[in-house]
Amino acid sequence: MNILILGSGGRENALGLKIKESPKLSNLYFIPGNGGTRLLGENIDIEANDFISISRKIEELNIELIVLGPETPLVGGIVDFLHQKFGNSKKIIGPKKNGAMLEGSKAYAKKFMQKYNIPTAQYQVFDSDDQTKAISFLKTLKPPYVLKADGLASGKGVVILNELESAITELKDFFAGKFGLASNKVVIEEYLEGIELSVFIATDGTQYKILPTSKDYKRLEDNDQGPNTGGMGAVSPVPFATKEFMIKVEEKIIKPTIEGLISEGIKYKGFLYFGLMNVKGEPFVIEYNC
Ligand code: AMP
Repeated sequence: MNILILGSGGRENALGLKIKESPKLSNLYFIPGNGGTRLLGENIDIEANDFISISRKIEELNIELIVLGPETPLVGGIVDFLHQKFGNSKKIIGPKKNGAMLEGSKAYAKKFMQKYNIPTAQYQVFDSDDQTKAISFLKTLKPPYVLKADGLASGKGVVILNELESAITELKDFFAGKFGLASNKVVIEEYLEGIELSVFIATDGTQYKILPTSKDYKRLEDNDQGPNTGGMGAVSPVPFATKEFMIKVEEKIIKPTIEGLISEGIKYKGFLYFGLMNVKGEPFVIEYNC
């Protein structure tokens, strides 16, 4: 089987390493890949958002299975595009645009969680026209203040501030276009005190398999000091993700998410990531990633 992995990160390198072990594999390709993936297969220099060139390569190389890593093409509808082009003749791992909205819009994700009773921080959403209302709402909250750009912002669209004045300044910057259109709409939410972890599932939209838990460490220095980075390291499995805690995650978060997607008429195929906060033994969703 000829397999294509889309993306250029450590994630795609890791997926490639495991796929490489499969006896079913004939040729492995990456678009665009990176220095690590070049050791596993062929890197093809096409931009991950260039759907037309990607579909031409899929045809030319007779690719049968496509694994989609990055969120931008998913949110941009690459799966819908490939389905239109190839019908059901290709196996595609990744959600369509409607499923990827769980990551593509934080306001949408929050509304979804509220609708399906999935535990998450209390929140309100404001458009840039509602700046005065947003500031009044901030004033009713206790610090720290959590501000989130609605749209994709390369993982940088969340700002947490301890002072009301700096939160108001930041909010104005968001509305003034700090993250372009992504921060035209802002989610302001309650701060959750706890310890974070990541839970992943692989799903066909009805059935799911829970993958091992992990926890990444983003602060630059030891003992949770220094600025956030893309990640300094990770631990898996997570020692505090006990059996009892994971039952709560499955019952209160994973099952209602799958059932919610089904109720919305969304057939989510692919990996779904739950960024969770363990608050005194209770799981809350911080974010979904697709
Ligand atoms: P996100 O991009 O939504 O994952 O947010 C980035 C980081 O901000 C998360 O990994 C958390 O460390 C933190 N964060 C986001 N929302 C909250 C919240 N409501 N309470 C506390 N920390 C949060």
